[in-house]
Amino acid sequence: MTREGSATINDARPHACGAKTRAGRPCKNAQMPNGRCRMHGGKSKGPRTPEGIEAIRKAITKHGMRSKSFKTLMGELRYIKRTTRDLLTKLKQVACENPDAIRSGGLDPERVLKMRDLS
Ligand SMILES: [Zn+2]
Repeated sequence: MTREGSATINDARPHACGAKTRAGRPCKNAQMPNGRCRMHGGKSKGPRTPEGIEAIRKAITKHGMRSKSFKTLMGELRYIKRTTRDLLTKLKQVACENPDAIRSGGLDPERVLKMRDLS
């Protein structure tokens, strides 16, 4: 495989890169599938398939605590914690003001007031 205008015209080696070097001669390195050596355009373009991209992601991930999915999960946990705290505050308020309503729900108002917040 050769490129138009490259220095491979007089190159006797069929599998050489053939790119023009800084010295003006054709490169003699072995060509890659695209016709050039690793230094003249034959290097990796990085992962292309979803499996390859995932393999690179796994290889460079150290702990994952800065990943998008982890941050999303922590945001959801904060929301659950905040909502639970608000509900417990309201439940304690009802237990103080209307203990019969708590008893009708099958709970002991004294026990509700002793419930501790998640922290
Ligand atoms: Zn080369």
